[in-house]
Amino acid sequence: MNRARISAVQQFCSNDPVPYFIDGEWSTGTEAPIAVIDPANDLPVCTVACAGADEVDRAVVAARRAFDQGLWSQARPDERSLHLNRWADLVDRDREILAELETLQTGKPIRESRGDVARALDGIRFYAASARNIRGEVIDVSSRHHSYVISRPLGVVAAIVPWNVPIVLTVSKVAPALAAGNSVIVKPSQTTPLTALYLARLWQEADLPAGVYNVINGPGRSVGEALCLHPGVTGITFTGGTDTGLHLGELAARQNKRVMLELGGKSPNIVLRDADIDRAIPGSANAIFYGQGQICAAGSRLLAEAPIYDRLVEGVSAFAASMKIGDPLDEATEFGCLTSISHRDEVMGWVRRAIDDGASVAAGARNAVVPGLPDGAFMEPTVLVDVPPTAPISCEEVFGPVLVVQRVDDIEQAIAWANDSQFGLSAGVWSRDSARARQVASRLEAGVVWINDYGVFNPAMPFGGVKLSGSSHREWSHLALDAFMEHMSIWESNA
Ligand code: NAD
Repeated sequence: MNRARISAVQQFCSNDPVPYFIDGEWSTGTEAPIAVIDPANDLPVCTVACAGADEVDRAVVAARRAFDQGLWSQARPDERSLHLNRWADLVDRDREILAELETLQTGKPIRESRGDVARALDGIRFYAASARNIRGEVIDVSSRHHSYVISRPLGVVAAIVPWNVPIVLTVSKVAPALAAGNSVIVKPSQTTPLTALYLARLWQEADLPAGVYNVINGPGRSVGEALCLHPGVTGITFTGGTDTGLHLGELAARQNKRVMLELGGKSPNIVLRDADIDRAIPGSANAIFYGQGQICAAGSRLLAEAPIYDRLVEGVSAFAASMKIGDPLDEATEFGCLTSISHRDEVMGWVRRAIDDGASVAAGARNAVVPGLPDGAFMEPTVLVDVPPTAPISCEEVFGPVLVVQRVDDIEQAIAWANDSQFGLSAGVWSRDSARARQVASRLEAGVVWINDYGVFNPAMPFGGVKLSGSSHREWSHLALDAFMEHMSIWESNA
């Protein structure tokens, strides 16, 4: 049964199905509703309305009409900023509702969801401020011309969001796109649409223009793809699996659309012999176990220099074993459940195959049982050792709470193994010698590197990867704002 504790959450979920939001209106869908499952008990939280192809077209036409009418796209930047702040005020007011919805649909601990909502709120406020800082540029090339560059929104942006951090990844896309003046259509993961839908409710309550923020639900292959390929969509921003992203990138390239891809990772976390081990142990454990390991930037490969290898394995394993696994809605829970039973079973399959191939278990590697929630997608945070760097579990994204630890002889081997990956999203380096740590960081093939820390985040800092982890665009920061704009060069004759 639905475990919602807050009456506003109960009320939101009691709509059957919860409608989606196009052109400022709620729609009950044209296809069979989709159940949103609480992974802590494998029971439905609610159902949500599901769109078909006609609805995709309706959403794009509405978003384009809103764009052309200019209520948002041509509003003064300070007005857009005020509007975004009004939306943020409501997010702030309802942060507990949003956190509970996030936990119900994802299984992450409520304390983690609160952090995610705070990050999303900060992201909206950041881009509310950024809207007022969109600049043009005068480029003085000839005395016969006044020549300058202006920035303009792309038009209609499709935002495709995965299930792991739904509210943060919705905001990372829509906030800069909206600040730049675009209309957006969000297609959340069909398994976790509730917070994007609740944001639509707040958009409506803030009395913001119809057709500018839209949310449509449905399967990726049909609704998501139709949305991205609709001729009225001018920009695509996608976060999700590498295969899906590459497929979408190919299709979008044929239409020469602006496409931003944030994909998978297998991030190395390097602990050098001179690291402060007391900091590196909890830092490395949190790097993988935050979000139950279902984080694209998770530090899933721990590369430890030989002299500190044993202490590190022991410390990280003890940390894993001490984590309080429990009901995600429980305030004390440190480690919730995975996104679904099937995903948990898939992750456990990776673990079993690694053990069959010779890996040793330093912690976890079992399903976890939480009192009162016998059908939940729980597993223990897992640490595996004796895994060669070429083993599938060392190379492929498992997207679960599974850490592989490898012993490296020296810095050169650490860098070589760290870079020997198809991915290049993020990395960590731990050392007391900052010059050495910086030198290692500068040689890593990654979009983000943390030194003596892991996973810290701020909307002012760019985020994104290289190699198969993403396209060259970055999320967050001024770079994301730029990615959602066209730059037009204007030559004005003085004659
Ligand atoms: P997924 O690729 O299955 O789905 C992501 C989204 O794309 C969903 O909304 C889905 O419905 C939609 N989709 C699926 N097929 C589509 C298609 N053909 N056209 C358009 N949309 C389509 O990924 P997931 O399982 O939801 O998320 C997990 C993956 O996301 C992991 O690989 C993870 O690494 C990645 N991820 C990356 C980042 C990052 O910033 N790099 C962040 C979070 C998650």
